[in-house]
Amino acid sequence: MRQLLTNNKLRATFLSFLVMMLSSLLSVCSPIVKSATVEDRIDHFIYQEPKPEKVVYLTFDDGPSAHTLDLLNLLEQEQVPAVFFVIGENINNVPNSGEILKEILNKGHYIGLHSMTHDLDKLYNAPDAATNFVNEMLEVRGKVKELTGFESNLCRPPYGGRGHFTNSHYQAIKEAGLSCVDWNVDSLDWAKSSSEEILNQVKKDLEIADYPNEVVLLFHEKKLTLETLPQVFKYYRDLGYVFMPYYDGDEFECELK
Ligand SMILES: [Zn+2]
Repeated sequence: MRQLLTNNKLRATFLSFLVMMLSSLLSVCSPIVKSATVEDRIDHFIYQEPKPEKVVYLTFDDGPSAHTLDLLNLLEQEQVPAVFFVIGENINNVPNSGEILKEILNKGHYIGLHSMTHDLDKLYNAPDAATNFVNEMLEVRGKVKELTGFESNLCRPPYGGRGHFTNSHYQAIKEAGLSCVDWNVDSLDWAKSSSEEILNQVKKDLEIADYPNEVVLLFHEKKLTLETLPQVFKYYRDLGYVFMPYYDGDEFECELK
């Protein structure tokens, strides 16, 4: 009897040790699921911590559009997260834009701000350009919040902030608590007329950027882009890059500050 008790005790101790070892091993190996920043944002994508060595943030400018829902389907199939930088005037003009914006969040992606008008002169050249810039970003943020409940602080300056921002822009953005990010690889998809041209441009620009560990990749919501993306995803994955979801508070290496 005594022998049996000792054996049972030993077995129990061994088992609890095993459970402890397994759970600590699992907590080391399993990727961290970062909690959603809004109720509507479902964590479809696994947030990896520490960050993989080579990452890509996929970004789409100038939506919402007639192609957004098709893009979302493709991204779901390919398990690629993205940031959609939206324009206020498009939210006003595209039918069902509220549904589209909600779907972006429901599929686990992020919505960024891309001004109301996309107007070069108003945003950069007018005497009160810096104020216009911030006001337009806050206005589109308000629209997104009204339609989805989601409040974004991340901006993509139309035409890129680098080369356009003045000191007043940097100051106004900081005061408004916004962060701005350009891109370091440009697909120039808006100017290309075939998938091959887009893919070649993406490859060429990645080479010019010297294969950075953090790529911020710029696309637009176009039919040809949709057709080209599977090849782009394969190209990056073959090079060892991981497509990363963006969460509030994450910092881009190439943030404009
Ligand atoms: Zn744009």
